[in-house]
Amino acid sequence: MDQDQARARLATAVAEARTGLAEGGIPIGAALYGADGTLLGRGRNRRVQDGDPSMHAETAAFRAAGRQRTYRGTTMVTTLSPCWYCSGLVRQFGISRVVIGEATTFYGGQDWLAEHGVEIVLLDDPECVDLMRTFIHDNPALWNEDIGE
Ligand SMILES: [Zn+2]
Repeated sequence: MDQDQARARLATAVAEARTGLAEGGIPIGAALYGADGTLLGRGRNRRVQDGDPSMHAETAAFRAAGRQRTYRGTTMVTTLSPCWYCSGLVRQFGISRVVIGEATTFYGGQDWLAEHGVEIVLLDDPECVDLMRTFIHDNPALWNEDIGE
């Protein structure tokens, strides 16, 4: 996948992250795209909003997409490097590609995914970095709770 296409899709995830921030939540967003480029589902981290620590952005997007016959060729787009839990989801269902906004403020399972044949597109997006830097600075306890530290 080329960078322009990846950036266009990242915009959906960033919009979700900003919605989450406005709701008082953790600003991480995600979207699942089909092999043909159709948006299948989008979502955001809703730990705070739902009181549910398992509702990560990628998980929310995945659930919003409903049942899919296959995940071959699909792309999970996320504003932040996927944690182990969401990396496990990507492998469990055979999602082919992960587009990552940034891996500067948090580095998850992306190398493990790459080792197992998942295409990783890291965009190093400054807007995503800024969203997380500001959030972590303002809410360190909430962030540490989210990553299980
Ligand atoms: Zn996660």
